[in-house]
Amino acid sequence: MSNYDGQAQYELRCRECGRSWGNQPRSICDECFSPLEITYDYDSIQSSLAQGAVDKVKSSRERIAQRPPNMWRYSELLPLPAGFEPRLPVGFTPLFQAPRLAARLAGDQVDADAAAQNLYIKNDAVCLPTLSFKDRVVAVALAQAQAFGFDTVACSSTGNLANAVAAHAARLGLKAWIFIPSDLEPAKILGTQVFGANVVRIAGNYDQVNRLCSQIAEERRWGFVNVNLRPYYAEGSKTVGFEIAEQLGWRLPDNVVVPMAGGSLITKIKKAFDELSKLGLVEDKPVKFFGAQATGCSPISTAVKTGSAEIEPQKPATIARSLAIGNPADGHYAIKTIKHSGGWSEDVGDPEVIDSIRLLAETEGIFTETAGGVTVGSAGKLYRQDRILPEETTVLCITGNGLKTTDVLSGVYEIERPIAPKLAEFEKYLHETLDTVGVASETAATVGA
Ligand SMILES: *Cc1c(COP(=O)(O)O)cnc(C)c1O
Ligand SMILES: [Zn+2]
Repeated sequence: MSNYDGQAQYELRCRECGRSWGNQPRSICDECFSPLEITYDYDSIQSSLAQGAVDKVKSSRERIAQRPPNMWRYSELLPLPAGFEPRLPVGFTPLFQAPRLAARLAGDQVDADAAAQNLYIKNDAVCLPTLSFKDRVVAVALAQAQAFGFDTVACSSTGNLANAVAAHAARLGLKAWIFIPSDLEPAKILGTQVFGANVVRIAGNYDQVNRLCSQIAEERRWGFVNVNLRPYYAEGSKTVGFEIAEQLGWRLPDNVVVPMAGGSLITKIKKAFDELSKLGLVEDKPVKFFGAQATGCSPISTAVKTGSAEIEPQKPATIARSLAIGNPADGHYAIKTIKHSGGWSEDVGDPEVIDSIRLLAETEGIFTETAGGVTVGSAGKLYRQDRILPEETTVLCITGNGLKTTDVLSGVYEIERPIAPKLAEFEKYLHETLDTVGVASETAATVGA
């Protein structure tokens, strides 16, 4: 699976004071206590992609397009160690139009037809290997964990990160310690244990788990993907943005709607679009960034709505557990990304999260987890507020799979009593069912006509 023929020139830099920190497991600047971020030498990336061709853009696009369909096709723009050989084909999930969902979201508008043409879904509910976009961030973080010589990796998680770290660690033969709030969905706990990871349930919320992990990271030589490896981890999220642009035919959308927990993904999709513009791979144009949160844990959307530049931490109370971070690490930067782009942020209550999971499933055949319900519900509000217009190209980021959060739907559907395996029984059952739903009985003749 060696499709990696480029080598990025990159290093850690402080996001505020600009001090360089080389490459090491560290996420905070000791000088000013601001977060670190990876910066690249874009000139050398451009020449390594173009390989001396006259038409740099065409040649770079072709070089990328020839590579296998996974996130490693953008390796020049990822902080990967020298000689890195990917062990898993992560990413390159489908992007497709969602006309039936669009008709419902923009339903009472005259131009719902336009929305049908212009609404897209980026479906990371089918990201491999663990069915959420977190596989992307973990893939990059663990590449560096190995390069830094860690034999044990760890994380604090709201669920999907736990699954991804455990699975990738198993594949790479690393030990894994996973710290989770005790109230996570059973499928997310089981989906971590199955990979042989050490799962530590903490009687507390995510923010408390995360604080504990920062303390453990000081004590032990472990690679915490979202603590000391966080700058590397976060870069993996950019591949969602690279793929959206490539899959739209090397074009940026007008709007993206992104669910927010720590607020990292939304800022990294922005970074991805900016990098593609800088390299000339897409035409530069304004993109509006829209954040989505659950009302029961909405520190970022509350700040955007009230015009505040800083986060006021909240105590999470929502079924959207994957987004339940009350004190988001990248909240400040997420607010900035949204505001500077002319976007907005919305949030939806738990009942609307469930309705939206069902709406996406019934209109487009995609079963998303609660985070996807948050995204779809928030997008509906944004269409109704005319913040997203039907004639604009809009991408909804569906980031996780519904099979992991089936507990929120328990009680929504009745379990039918079984019937005898006889045709007459079925006919009787069909009549009863059609009568109760008030539809005229169909016969074989009319159905087959
Ligand atoms: C973690 C997560 C997010 C949000 O990611 P951040 O980068 O922390 O904002 C969105 N959706 C799902 C399903 C997640 O697991
Ligand atoms: Zn600094």
